[in-house]
Amino acid sequence: MASLTLKNINKIYPNGFVSVKDVSLHINDGDFVTFHGPSGCGKSTILRMIGGLEDITSGEMYLGDILLNDILPRDRKIAMAFQNYALYKHFNVYDNMALGLKLRNMPRNVISSRVKEAAEFLGISEILDKKIKAITDSQKQKVALGRAIVFHPKALLLDEDFAHNDEKLRAEMLHDVKKINRKLGITVLYVTNDYEEAITLATKVVFMKEGQITEVK
Ligand code: ADP
Ligand code: MG
Repeated sequence: MASLTLKNINKIYPNGFVSVKDVSLHINDGDFVTFHGPSGCGKSTILRMIGGLEDITSGEMYLGDILLNDILPRDRKIAMAFQNYALYKHFNVYDNMALGLKLRNMPRNVISSRVKEAAEFLGISEILDKKIKAITDSQKQKVALGRAIVFHPKALLLDEDFAHNDEKLRAEMLHDVKKINRKLGITVLYVTNDYEEAITLATKVVFMKEGQITEVK
């Protein structure tokens, strides 16, 4: 079971600012959750705490029945895709997708099959040998998603800065993310400031204001 449960989560930054206040939320395995709310309401902070990039000040967070609070980001089975994709321009597509698995000392043949499987799923098998600097933005998006799914994560986190302003690229990305959610059964948590997008995509929409959840639909 890979449901995600947040129990009375608070985040107080070192400067004393209370960014997230007593947030409780239950996300089912396979949900597509969008987070919606004005800038500064704590969306990124919540995502970063779930991903383990930010400490939780108080409260508990569970993936299934595993307490996540003290588990290192790399051991969480939660993948986060980053702004500007954070790809290594001088590496080829294969090596970008393989890097995280190599750092976890996975056997070479497992890495190879994971990368090939993800590339096929996303339709980028033909460009595995190409350097990042030689591929299109549309392909870069796919590589960034591929690099996340090779981990076989239970959940994929996407902050709003992952989405391109370009409408076509954004639509392509959302198409791929939907496919990842439906076909691979990976739970998706997606931050968007686009209300239409939030309600059309999601199985669950979380509305936030000033560090608190105001409504879950
Ligand atoms: P959102 O993603 O919804 O725009 P954030 O989660 O980034 O909001 O930020 C929530 C609040 O926490 C904002 O008021 C922001 O200024 C504040 N904040 C974010 N990071 C820090 C930090 N490192 N130190 C202090 N305050 C922060
Ligand atoms: Mg944000």
